This record gives sequence, structure tokens and C-alpha cells, in this order.
Amino acid sequence: EPYIPKYIDVKYIEGSSDKRWSSLDFPWTKKLEANNKTIFGNRSFRPNQREVINATMSGHDVFVLMPTGGGKSLTYQLPAYICPGITLVISPLVSLIQDQIMHLSQANIPAAYLSANMEWTEQQEILRELCLDNCRYKLLYVTPEKVAKSDVLLRHLENLYSRQLLARIVIDEAHCVSQWGHDFRPDYQGLGILKQKFPETPVLALTATATSSVKEDVVQALGLVDCIIFRQSFNRPNLQYSVMPKTKKCLEDIDSFIKNHHRDDCGIIYCLSKMDCEKVAEKLKECGHKAAFYHGGVDPSERAYVQEQWSKDEINIICATVAFGMGINKPDVRFVIHHSLPKSIEGYHQECGRAGRDSQLSSCVLYYNYSDYIRVKHMLSQGALEQNSFASGYSRSSNTNHGRTLETNTENLLRMVSYCENDVDCRRFLQLVHFGEKFDSGSCGKTCDNCSKVQSFVEKDCTLIAKQLVELVKLVRQQFSATHILEVYRGSLNQFVKKHRHDSLSLHGAGKHLAKGEASRVLRHLVTEDFLFEDVKKSDAYGSVSSVVKVKESKAYNLCTGGQTIKLRFPTSTKSSKPGKNDATPAKDLLTSRKNSLPLGDVSAESQAEEDISAK
Ligand code: ADP
Ligand code: MG
Ligand code: ZN
Repeated sequence: EPYIPKYIDVKYIEGSSDKRWSSLDFPWTKKLEANNKTIFGNRSFRPNQREVINATMSGHDVFVLMPTGGGKSLTYQLPAYICPGITLVISPLVSLIQDQIMHLSQANIPAAYLSANMEWTEQQEILRELCLDNCRYKLLYVTPEKVAKSDVLLRHLENLYSRQLLARIVIDEAHCVSQWGHDFRPDYQGLGILKQKFPETPVLALTATATSSVKEDVVQALGLVDCIIFRQSFNRPNLQYSVMPKTKKCLEDIDSFIKNHHRDDCGIIYCLSKMDCEKVAEKLKECGHKAAFYHGGVDPSERAYVQEQWSKDEINIICATVAFGMGINKPDVRFVIHHSLPKSIEGYHQECGRAGRDSQLSSCVLYYNYSDYIRVKHMLSQGALEQNSFASGYSRSSNTNHGRTLETNTENLLRMVSYCENDVDCRRFLQLVHFGEKFDSGSCGKTCDNCSKVQSFVEKDCTLIAKQLVELVKLVRQQFSATHILEVYRGSLNQFVKKHRHDSLSLHGAGKHLAKGEASRVLRHLVTEDFLFEDVKKSDAYGSVSSVVKVKESKAYNLCTGGQTIKLRFPTSTKSSKPGKNDATPAKDLLTSRKNSLPLGDVSAESQAEEDISAK
């Protein structure tokens, strides 16, 4: 398999630390201040808003990573209002677009949208307006498939461009471009055409969730030039994170958790399947909560009704699939409970992010057991999981996982498993490393379950394991995933290992004697500390990607030549109440034996569990 390096030349400039962008001396500064108050009714700017606006209005391509609720819309709506011409906004969902247009019209800012399922005459009217010299609209919203499929639209954009009236192109929810994102939309990948056709128009890409590979994917796919990046910490200090063992009594646990900590508060319970949503809602109602369910099988008017009831606090608790939430802006959500394993850490972070928008303390509790992993994995492979939206504006095919490899999904899922099984490290730290952010666990202040545990630790010298892992990565020619490296190290003899003849490597099984999870903990450490890094590999001609572990020579050299030691803390007691004990699933023994493992991925055990389940 030839290795195709994908990101040779991605260039971007850190904007967040550049004082230039916070200057009050731009020609438009006064106008910004005034209109932010009068038109948008804001007293001031939030972090990075002014900076982003100054950079995009200076004509640069800009990439913005800002948490949900941070105020990304203002960074293009305010420039759109004060600049001549029209701002084109690509947004993934008609429902989101309609919501935006409603807000804009309340502020008397003329905006329109085009989508495929609109009456043709209505579309024509909008297109005709675009041709006018004094076109009313300041913003034109479209769904990505409209760009991909409508030549008529492109012609009108070309016309605007030639008259120098295409002021700015905005890609909202830009992570949808990337197969690494939790919400890949194939139509987003075609958006690179915009930069090709309109090279002089600045592009502004906005997202609340991007790991470094997602970020690079986006910059690459959109063809952004010397892009300036603005990002801020994704830590949400007012959210408290914990992972609880999911047992047969899960629903009772949820009920008493809510009664003890959040009586009458508003919250969301994320469930895996439609049926789960209904079951959980039913049970909570029996327990006296004002609960309802919400998923893709519920008809639109009923969904709208439930959402409205929830906004008005007539319903406190919504039991939903991830389809519920994108664009939801209720400030006082006090808890987000995951009834089963989320698909990825990014998705999880995003879903939790719907709690505590008002900065008040809120809880995020995840109920985990290992057999849910098998269940989610199975559903992923069947394409049976609901995506985080309802396909009102784009085609059915973009609503599935097609075009995205099962391998990628599994890798994302395994990281989530690893997060759940980790009973040592700070939850904030674990989440934030995925956004390329280093978080000092000391600043958690015991606001996650792991930090607030009274644990004693023993420090172990892991230098040898570290060296061997680095060596092994080199032995397999830096072409395999973290999951795979660990399997080989632990001596797995599965098909894949045999196929690639890794069982003949000198380090195959070198980590056999180690306690479960020890090797993966060291590997994770090597990645977070930059001795190793994860790179994206294009695995076939269709552009599907997977992650491979590589060696950062400059850092690893010291380690390999004995100039550096690696010490990690491990908990001494194993009295943790991790899943397994009360679990009556067929994979019980396996779960019990796994209770302290922290795999980056442990597929050998997983195939075993799958067998156990199917044998039942
Ligand atoms: P995002 O797209 O980043 O999730 P939005 O742009 O939807 O966030 O903004 C979230 C909320 O914050 C909106 O209700 C918006 O009106 C409000 N908001 C944005 N900027 C400001 C500001 N500078 N001051 C006060 N409120 C703001
Ligand atoms: Mg937004
Ligand atoms: Zn913590």
C-alpha cells in the first residue's frame, strides 16, 4: 500500500496571539462598534469576535474555532451588514438557515436562502433580485448540495463576482468537510470550487469542533490560502464530567441522579436508538418526570411541538438521539446524560456543550459499559445510527456514513471507549487533547470524577515500554494505527496481524506481561507529548482516510538514546467501581477482566466479545 502524504503544504497563521487584530484603528472600527450595539443589540464583543471580523474584513481567509454558543454568527453577519455586496453563507441545514434568517429579519437585515426543496418560482425570484444593481439582500444562505448541484446558482455567483459584489464566502459548521469530523457531509467536500472560481473573495470557515486533522482537512478541501486561525480554549469550566458504570439499573440510576441533583431542572438524555429514546422517556415519566422523546421517526410537527414545549419549560427532559441539538440554543440546560456510548470524543464534547450555556454549573454524566461499544460499532457498520440533523435540505445519501470508512468510525469510537475506561486522567485533559489543546489537570479543581477521586498513585518508570513502542512504530514502517500497534505489542495473533506478518517482528508480544491498559496509557502519553504523532493516511482512491502513528524524530531521538526517562502515575488501588460487577450481559467475564484497562483500542478482546454475544 503506497503511502500518500496528504498534507505537505498546509499553511496557516495563528491569529489568536497576534495583537494586530485587536487594534481599534481599522477604518471600520467605529462602524463596528456602533452597529454591534444598535443593530445586533450587543453591549460588547465576545472573545475573538472583533479579531475575526478585523481579519476577514482585511481580506484574509480565516478559520475560526470557537465553542458552540461563542457567537460565531456575528463574525460574518456584522461584516455582511456594513460591507457593500452580498455575503454567501453555506450552512448544512435548512432549519438552521431559517432560524438565522428569522433573527436577521428581526434586526432588519435583509437575507434570503435557496434550497433544493423550494418552489422553483420562489427560487427564481431570489435569483432575479441578485442580478439587480441595488440588490436588497446582504446575505444569501444556501445548503452545500445547492452549490454542488445548481449551475444556475454558480452562474449568478459568477455574475455577482464579476460586478465585485460577492463580498465574502462563509462556511458554517466547516467540520462537515472532514471525514474525521463527527458529522461528515460529502457535499461539503465540493465546496473547494468556490475558492477556485472566486479567488479574490475572502473565505471565513467557522466551526465549534475540530481536531488538528479535521482542521487540516478543512483548510485543504476549501483551498484556503495563507489562512489565519483563531481559536480559544474549549474547556468549559462550568461543566462537571463523570463516567458511571452502566448496569441493568441504569434507568433507576438516572432517575435518582436527576432527583438528587437536578430536581425539576432542564436536561437532555442522549440515547442510541429511537427505541431507547422512547423507553427511557416512558420510564422517566413513570418516575414522575416531565419527559418526552425526540428522534427522526417522530413526525416533524410533533418534533416542533416537543421542542417548543421544552423551550417553554413545559417539558423538562428530552430523551433524544443526537439528531436533537444542532442549533439548539436553550441557555439553562442543567444536565446532559449519555445513556449510551457516544460515537466520538468530538461528538461527545459537542453534545455536552449544550449544557450550561448560561455559565451556571451543569452536569455531564455518561453511562458506560463495554457491550455498548459492540452495539454502537455494529450500528455504525450497518449505517443504522441517526446523524446529528434531520435531512430537510440535503439528499438522503449525505445523511449516512457513506464515503467515510468504517475504519475511521471505529477509530473514533475506540477513542471514546478509551476515554470511558480511563479512571486516572482528568476528563477535561482527555477531551481537550483531541482539540490539540494542552490542559493542565491541576486547573480542573476536582470538577471531574477522576480528579475528585481519592486515589493513591504509584509512579512507574515506563521508559522501556516507551522505547519499545517507538521502535515498533518504526518496525512497521510508520504505516499503522495506534490500535494496531498495541495489538502487535501485546502479542495479538488476529488475521490482520498475520496478514501483515507482524507476528514475526522482534517486538511482537514484547508487552505481553504488562497489565492491561498500561501499554495504551504509555502510547497515549507518547502521542500527547509529541514523541509520536498521528497522521492522516489516504487509504484508497476514493479519498477515505485512516490514522497512522508516526515518530517525531526530533523528540524521540533523546528517548531512544537514553537521554530521557518517562514516568507515569498509576493508581495503586483497584477498588474502582468500573463496569462489570453488576453487569449481566453475555460479555460479563470479559468486562470484569477489562475493568482497569485503558486501551487506545483493544480489538482482539472485542472480537471475542462479539463472538460471545452472537453465541448467545
Ligand atoms: P455559535 O454559532 O458560535 O454557536 P451564535 O452565533 O449562534 O453562536 O451565538 C450564540 C448566542 O450568543 C446568540 O444568542 C447571540 O445573539 C449571542 N451573542 C453573540 N455575540 C454576542 C455578543 N457580543 N454579546 C452578547 N451576545 C452575543
Ligand atoms: Mg453557529
Ligand atoms: Zn479533572
